[in-house]
Amino acid sequence: MGDIRVHDKQFEPYISAAAIADRIKEIAGNLNKDYAGKKPLFIAILNGSFMFAADLYKELTIDAEVCFIKLASYKGTKSTGHVITAIGLDMDLFGRDVIIVEDIVDTGKTLSEFLPQLRHQQPASLKIVALLHKPEATVFPITIDYLGFSIPNKFVVGYGLDYDGLGRNIPEIFKLIE
Ligand code: 5GP
Repeated sequence: MGDIRVHDKQFEPYISAAAIADRIKEIAGNLNKDYAGKKPLFIAILNGSFMFAADLYKELTIDAEVCFIKLASYKGTKSTGHVITAIGLDMDLFGRDVIIVEDIVDTGKTLSEFLPQLRHQQPASLKIVALLHKPEATVFPITIDYLGFSIPNKFVVGYGLDYDGLGRNIPEIFKLIE
């Protein structure tokens, strides 16, 4: 693997496809154990998590459902402030074991705004699986229950993650050369 160019920037190899696949097998192994006898609902957040969610789902041996949602944020009124809405979330979460699937947790803002909305529906449990986490970037602390890799505060592309719409198809993860 050599350096690559995505749009107008250079990126260097960071996490190989084999390392990602190995880690996903480990995470799936833990999920298969922890959710044995249950029927969890995986809610994957588009666009970035589509590849991770698909590969993780293939490694599950338990009964599990998956759905994909998109989060849209907009400025609400002065009293409501910033509002985040889930597009495509048409499942009843009451009493369900819910697992959110994220590509990357950066500042934690997205999940810190979205999780209370999910809790409002009273799922039996609510856990988070994320492929990547940038601990140094944390502004809103989020507990990640199943984590692929902790990474430094650098911009990454590939394996579903884009730079300006491009690079999602790259099978491994690359890091921006600064
Ligand atoms: P947060 O709300 O935690 O700050 O940001 C989460 C979202 O920001 C991710 O779901 C992802 O879409 C985007 N993001 C954060 N860091 C990166 C990165 O290094 N590369 C890419 N491609 N997206 C990122």
